[in-house]
Amino acid sequence: MKQRPRHFASDNYAGICPEAWQSLQEANSGHVPGYGDDMWTDKAADLLRETFAMDCEVFFVFNGTAANSLSLASTGQSYNSILCHETAHVETDECGAPEFFSNGMKVQLLPGELGKIDPSGIERMVKKRSDIHYPKPRAVSVTQSTELGTVYSVDELKSVWAKAKQFNLKLHMDGARFANAVASLGCHPKDITWEAGVDVLCFGGTKNGTAVGDAVVFFNRELAEDFDYRCKQSGQLASKMRYLSAPWVGMLRNKVWLKHAGHANAMAKLLHDELVQIEELRLLWPTQANAVFVEMPPWLVHSLKNDGWKFYTFIGQGGCRLMCAWDTTEQDVRDFVADLKRGLVEAPRDVDLGEVDHRKL
Ligand SMILES: *Cc1c(COP(=O)(O)O)cnc(C)c1O
Repeated sequence: MKQRPRHFASDNYAGICPEAWQSLQEANSGHVPGYGDDMWTDKAADLLRETFAMDCEVFFVFNGTAANSLSLASTGQSYNSILCHETAHVETDECGAPEFFSNGMKVQLLPGELGKIDPSGIERMVKKRSDIHYPKPRAVSVTQSTELGTVYSVDELKSVWAKAKQFNLKLHMDGARFANAVASLGCHPKDITWEAGVDVLCFGGTKNGTAVGDAVVFFNRELAEDFDYRCKQSGQLASKMRYLSAPWVGMLRNKVWLKHAGHANAMAKLLHDELVQIEELRLLWPTQANAVFVEMPPWLVHSLKNDGWKFYTFIGQGGCRLMCAWDTTEQDVRDFVADLKRGLVEAPRDVDLGEVDHRKL
């Protein structure tokens, strides 16, 4: 089978971008204090405060699951609940970690078109019950950009915020692909965070070009109280913290994070524009960030996989997710599209897709 240098499976298939690598290398010199008491961590936190134009409280943890779970836990008590969209990573891909790290907060699911919460669903869920036998909602979690590759507009976020505020709910943002959302909207990062009522943002680095280490950014500083203890107790306090924080310096300097996210988005747009012209295919959701969702016949999926391409097929039979990363090239897109078009003509049609991939985001 042909070996491909890059795939469309996930943006976390990509390696470390040169800027993150460079600052890692710079940080790898001499002895510096551990546990975050170092100049790299200070610098990264300062750059985040500059990026958001706000004196926020910043922590670095190993991954997005930890960032989401611990920050959601900090919004309330164990008898509270968290409201999120039914496709949210928090619900579908974190193995119950938000419930675990919050000692039992219940995650309650809301509907909504295109992977986005419909604000009226918040009211419905809150008003469904108010007796002592039911968990008390305390937080709403939105994913920006969403699991379906769509992006909440500033106004859409503000309507979610309005409902959250009405019922005294904190607003949490899963920003595993926050960079792609900002690049897509062309807005200031504050427009879709604290100016839209976000109390805490989990800012993902991994999918945008770091090796490891997501930032938890508290715009509501009260929620950050004792967060360092939560990190330590859950095994999320890195002793050699500089290796989590230094890459952020490389990413945030000169807005490198936006350059990489904008590139990934542009590659997804190119892929979308190619695929939308092929009448045998059906595009599932609008491409607003770095993902393209497309329905194609199983025999075509089979053919592309035989051509050495990796991508996920977890949304029903034939629903494929194609993710672009900071290092996806135009040539990658063109090669994939060429193989797809050739498959449409030449591939045998009497094959089964067989085992569907395990879902991985
Ligand atoms: C990738 C991802 C995360 C973080 O996942 P980890 O594997 O724990 O880093 C969180 N939310 C969304 C929407 C994601 O796609």
